[in-house]
Amino acid sequence: MIEVSIDKLILIYFGVTFTFVGLLWGLFYLQKGKAEKILVKNQVKHCEFCHFRYLIDLRKNLTRCPECGLLNDERK
Ligand SMILES: [Zn+2]
Repeated sequence: MIEVSIDKLILIYFGVTFTFVGLLWGLFYLQKGKAEKILVKNQVKHCEFCHFRYLIDLRKNLTRCPECGLLNDERK
């Protein structure tokens, strides 16, 4: 049987715990970065006709409202 002192056992416990928490934090940080990139490329727009809110792609000048189907000019 492997003999491990209580000091080493505590050290291993905290090492594994902090590594696990660090990995979880890293994964959440990466997910947050992806969400911010999506929000930078897109913007919330109110339809001029029915006032429905939807996400638009900033690279397009004209977008179609998903609710009423009319075209909205995004340069305004
Ligand atoms: Zn609309």
